[in-house]
Amino acid sequence: MKIKIEVERCVGHARCAAVAPEVFSLDDNGFNTTEKITVPEALEEKAARGARACPEMIILVEED
Ligand code: SF4
Repeated sequence: MKIKIEVERCVGHARCAAVAPEVFSLDDNGFNTTEKITVPEALEEKAARGARACPEMIILVEED
């Protein structure tokens, strides 16, 4: 699974990292600045939950 994040629209809720800290990391100001993530299989469910937790809906999941 791959994840794409529209980082320019991130407003820093930190919900993604609260739900899936192994997948999403935030910068010192609480913004998600990673545009693309390749998610290992074991973390796919958690990553999808983190994506759904983003109120801005800027985390896009691409299935392989
Ligand atoms: S939940 Fe969404 S808006 Fe909030 S930090 Fe994560 S990507 Fe950014």
